[in-house]
Amino acid sequence: GCDCKRFLKNNWLLLSTILAVVLGIGVGVLVREYGKLSNLDKFYFSFPGEVLMRMLKLIILPLIISSMITGVAALDSSVSGKIGLRAVVYYFCTTVMAVILGIVLVVTIKPGVSQKADEIDRMGIFYLKKQNNKYHVATEEPVTIVTPTETLLNKTKEYKIVGMYSDGINVLGLIVFCLVFGIVIGKMGEKGQVLVDFFNALNEATMRIVQIIMWYMPLGILFLIAGKIIEVEDWEIFRKLGLYMATVLSGLAIHSVVILPLIYLIIVRKNPFRFAIGMAQALLTALMISSSSATLPVTFRCAEEKNHVDKRITRFVLPVGATINMDGTALYEAVAAVFIAQLNDLELDIGQIVTISVTATAASIGAAGVPQAGLVTMVIVLSAVGLTAEDVTLIIAVDWLLDRFRTMVNVLGDAFGAGVVEKLSKRELEQMDVTSEVNIVNPF
Ligand code: ASP
Repeated sequence: GCDCKRFLKNNWLLLSTILAVVLGIGVGVLVREYGKLSNLDKFYFSFPGEVLMRMLKLIILPLIISSMITGVAALDSSVSGKIGLRAVVYYFCTTVMAVILGIVLVVTIKPGVSQKADEIDRMGIFYLKKQNNKYHVATEEPVTIVTPTETLLNKTKEYKIVGMYSDGINVLGLIVFCLVFGIVIGKMGEKGQVLVDFFNALNEATMRIVQIIMWYMPLGILFLIAGKIIEVEDWEIFRKLGLYMATVLSGLAIHSVVILPLIYLIIVRKNPFRFAIGMAQALLTALMISSSSATLPVTFRCAEEKNHVDKRITRFVLPVGATINMDGTALYEAVAAVFIAQLNDLELDIGQIVTISVTATAASIGAAGVPQAGLVTMVIVLSAVGLTAEDVTLIIAVDWLLDRFRTMVNVLGDAFGAGVVEKLSKRELEQMDVTSEVNIVNPF
């Protein structure tokens, strides 16, 4: 009856996204079996999914700018400093916990010890080659000549790894600028008001566009997932790297089901799983598009609309989180580095373990929130313990899958962070004058 209708009305987007995932898997498997698609066909086939990615990437720039500036301008600068500090402390502590968890698991499970390094090496299809100080992906097979259009359409691994750098805008720089700009116009009083109004209007416009994108989301996701299933060349590798993947996935699961909820429970004293369910749409999006930056519009929406986190907190804490807080990536980098060391029969002493922990934390902060960025920053972690960048080839074939799960954990960590910081900042938020809240529009 009525209850059911309300449930459908409130959750239609989530439900249709779930349906899209199921359909996408079905369509993907069917087309893979019977489709016989050429590369060009595959390109057209994954195009609707690509459109979703491009729309999300397009909107994050105005979204970050307008939400950060209005968010900070609405706060008094002493308050924003405190909130910022709390966010950074939370982000740092949870990232370190994720790394420690990863190390404990990989050292206990030892996924790399029983397997021989070159056995896996030979199975790997791709190599990273260093040429003119850049890493290129090369194949083991004799080089076949392909036309430039074919190369473009084929979306080779090389395109993905190299493209990543140019993919992301310098989000960290942008955030710092928006912070300063927001504080300055917030302090300008009368004169600054026109700018505050301008960015508020920009924010509302951006959020309305986000809503339009959300309508398209299920369709985009259907084709994204189907396109991926068609594209994967080697499923066998999953069996061979099974234990490694299980280590990463169980670490991610423990971090998101036990550690993060526990912190939230202790500090906020509300049901963490309800909070996590409120984030479902964002988590699913992260899983599908493996980019925490591109998921940001959805993260905002879930945190504000479903979990009712104060907008003065989300606007400020979520963009920063999407950029520097990556628990999943940190855990993954630590596990992967130790795994590769194990494959290479390298005994790690305690000093090297500490080195891996520190560099994995740094590498996760440095990684951009775009697909497979963590794989690139892995090079930092490996070289810190004397392993070469080429060793990344051992895990490259399964990275696209692990990337999805770690991105999901990254987004969950940001969201819990907003909840925790909100709770810790209750007093300041209550003391602030109510007029600053009036400025914040709710487009939904
Ligand atoms: N794809 C991840 C993210 O966007 C980063 C990574 O590769 O670990 O959060």
